[in-house]
Amino acid sequence: MSALNSATAYHYGACIDNEWIFLEKKFEVINPATEKAIATVADCGILETVQAIDAATKALASWSNTTAKERSEILNKWFQLIIQHKEEIATTLSKEQGKPLQEAIGEVVYGASFIEWFAEEAKRSYGETIPTPDFHKRLFTIKQPIGVVAAITPWNFPIAMVTRKLAPAIAAGCTVVLKPAEETPLSALLLMKLAIEAGLPKGVLNVITTSNAALVGDILTSHPAIKKISFTGSTAVGKLLMQQSSTTLKKLSLELGGNAPLIVFDDADIELAVKGTMISKFRNAGQTCVCANRVYVHKDIYLPFVEALQKEVEGLVVGDGLDAGVTIGPLINKEAKDKVRFLLLDALQKGAEMITGKELLDDDGLFCEPIVITNCTPSMELSKEEIFGPILAIYIFDKDEAVINLANNTPYGLAAYFFTQNINRCWKTMEQLQYGMIGINEGLISHPEAPFGGIKESGFGKEGGRYGLEEYLITKYVCLNTRQRGKEEYKSNTG
Ligand code: ADP
Repeated sequence: MSALNSATAYHYGACIDNEWIFLEKKFEVINPATEKAIATVADCGILETVQAIDAATKALASWSNTTAKERSEILNKWFQLIIQHKEEIATTLSKEQGKPLQEAIGEVVYGASFIEWFAEEAKRSYGETIPTPDFHKRLFTIKQPIGVVAAITPWNFPIAMVTRKLAPAIAAGCTVVLKPAEETPLSALLLMKLAIEAGLPKGVLNVITTSNAALVGDILTSHPAIKKISFTGSTAVGKLLMQQSSTTLKKLSLELGGNAPLIVFDDADIELAVKGTMISKFRNAGQTCVCANRVYVHKDIYLPFVEALQKEVEGLVVGDGLDAGVTIGPLINKEAKDKVRFLLLDALQKGAEMITGKELLDDDGLFCEPIVITNCTPSMELSKEEIFGPILAIYIFDKDEAVINLANNTPYGLAAYFFTQNINRCWKTMEQLQYGMIGINEGLISHPEAPFGGIKESGFGKEGGRYGLEEYLITKYVCLNTRQRGKEEYKSNTG
C-alpha cells in the first residue's frame, strides 16, 4: 500500500461516508519519543459528528440487510490488507504511541485477528427455537444488529482497541462512528483507509478525529440514532458516558480501569512466574489496563524470585520505539510521567525500597527506566490505582487467605494472575478472585476467541469470543400462533 506512505494528505482528514474531511481547525499528533509533532489532523466538532451519525444511520438500512457471508468477505479482505501492510501501520503506531516496533507489529497482527475471527463468527449468530408451553404457538428468537454504534477508544492500543469494537459491530451488521483517542488518531485513519480499499460501503464506518472528546462524546451519548456505546478508557469517563447515555437509554460496553494483582505462591515455577510477571507488567511500558499492578510474592520464594526478576528487568532497553533492540518506549505524555513519579515518591516515602532502577528525571523526556520496588503496603497510592508505567511493585505475603483478601480489596475487577503448581490451589484461588479474567501460570491472556472484560468498577460487557458479538446484537423473541381460521385444528408433538 504505497499510498500509505505517499505525500497525499489523507492521513490527516477525518472520514465520513468514505470521504476524507479536511478542516481549517486541526490538532497536532505528537511522537512521545521525540515530543515533536508528526502530523496534524482535522479537529471535528458538532457538525462533523452529526454528519457522521447521519451517514451511519443512512448506511444501516442496507448494511444490516446484507448477509453475514457478504460482510465476512469484506472483513476478510480488510484483514488481509492490514496483514499485508503490517510494518507500515506498525511504524505509524509506534510513532504516535511510542511502543517498540516489534511490539507494534504484534499489536497490528493481534488487532487484525479480531477482524478475521468476527468475520467468521457472525455467520453463527444463531437464534433458537424454544419448546412451547402451548400447542398453538411456536416460540423462537432471531438475532439482529443493534443499530448505529459509537466506539470511543484509548491511546494505549491504537489498533487493537479499535478492531475489538469495529470487527464485531460491522460483522453483526451494525454501522459505526469511531472516535479514536486524540493522542493516536493516525492508526485508526490507516484502518479506515484500508477498510475503504477492502470495499466497505459508504457510511458503514466513519472516523471522527477531535481534540474535544467531551463535546463529541456528549453528542454521541445523547443522539437518539446511536443505539450502543462501546468505550475503553478510564473509569471516570466511563461513568460519565453512562450517565450521559441514560436519557436515550443506550446499551453500553465499558472496558475501564484495572488494578491487577499477580500472586506468586510458594509452590510456583519461578521461571514461569518471572516470565509471566515480565510480560504482564512491562508490555507497552506498563501502559495496559491488565498490567500486573500489585505483585504479591510468598515470603519463602521471595529471594529467588526477585533475583531472577531483577536480571530480566535489567535486560530491558529503554528508547525510541523505532530504534533496534528497544523493549521499553516512552510514556505517552508529561501527565503520565508526572503521575508515575508521584506514585513512586509516595511509595518510597511510605517505606518502599527501590531495588532496580533510578529516580525519574525530567532530562529523560518521557522515557522512564523500569523500576522494581519492594516492601510495598496497601497504604501506598500505587496499591490503589493503576500505575500505568514501568514500575513493578512487590508485596510480600504469608497466608493464602490473606493474599486473596488483599488482592480483592479494590473497587476494580478486570484481570488477576497467579502462579502455582498445586491444582487445588488453582481451582480455589480462581474461584475466589473477584475479577473478570484470570491468568493461571500465564501473564498474557487476551485472544480474539476469548471474552475480555471486567466486573465491579472495571465495567461490563465483553470483547472477543462469541460474547463479543452478542454485544452488538439484539435478541428478538417471536411468538407465532399456528391456528388457522376455518381449518381443522393442527396438532403435533411440539415438545
Ligand atoms: P486515558 O486517561 O487513558 O486517556 P480517557 O478515559 O481519558 O483515558 O480516554 C479514553 C478515551 O475517551 C479517549 O478516546 C478520550 O478522548 C475519550 N474521552 C475522554 N473524555 C471524554 C468525554 N468526556 N466524553 C467522551 N469521550 C471522552
